[in-house]
Amino acid sequence: MPEKIYTIPINEAFDKKCGCPICSIYEMLEKNEIDAILGASMMEPDIRVATNRLGFCPDHFEKLLRAGKKLPLALMLESHIIELCDNMKKSPEAQAKAFSAVSESCYLCTRIENYIENIYLNLFWLFAEDEAFREKVKGQKCYCLPHYAKLLTLAKTRLKRQDYKKFTEYLTATEERYLSSLSKDITDFTKMFDYRNADAEWGDFKDAPERIIKTLNSELG
Ligand SMILES: [Zn+2]
Ligand SMILES: [Zn+2]
Repeated sequence: MPEKIYTIPINEAFDKKCGCPICSIYEMLEKNEIDAILGASMMEPDIRVATNRLGFCPDHFEKLLRAGKKLPLALMLESHIIELCDNMKKSPEAQAKAFSAVSESCYLCTRIENYIENIYLNLFWLFAEDEAFREKVKGQKCYCLPHYAKLLTLAKTRLKRQDYKKFTEYLTATEERYLSSLSKDITDFTKMFDYRNADAEWGDFKDAPERIIKTLNSELG
């Protein structure tokens, strides 16, 4: 059954119709999680145990630094480093294992991935059951390529044959339109460097390289 805590943000993201809706959900979840660990849940023991154990990936450490909450971050880092120091009593092999594990894990990535899994679950439920949501999917402007690929892959096993057909039809139409507009924009962009266009005006294509890179990499970061 669908859960409102997931269907509301899904509908909101698909209502925006600008940029990739999955990136938009991801950003919202990421912001909530960062606010929580640097705010209300910062002192909660079980969260502290998890942040100590998992640490953060470079991207999320960067975002925590940029969040501007120096004391909560410092307190979290203090208990993280104390726990990491305990490893120094272990053998070199055990240290290597422990430090490799913590370098490869991230508390925020893990939390967000769990939420995103439920987001996908509810998204496919909405598509199968809710006509209004189908229309929203049909009216999307674009998806970043990583999320486009992810949605196509998951849809195969999560939607019934007829729904899968409709879903992929809407998605591929959106993405085809978007990629060909990017392709046209980048061509127009390069033409501006032709001496014959020295006096031409820059149009909407002036940020085509940025938009293409965002689309290829997802909008996160
Ligand atoms: Zn995306
Ligand atoms: Zn992370």
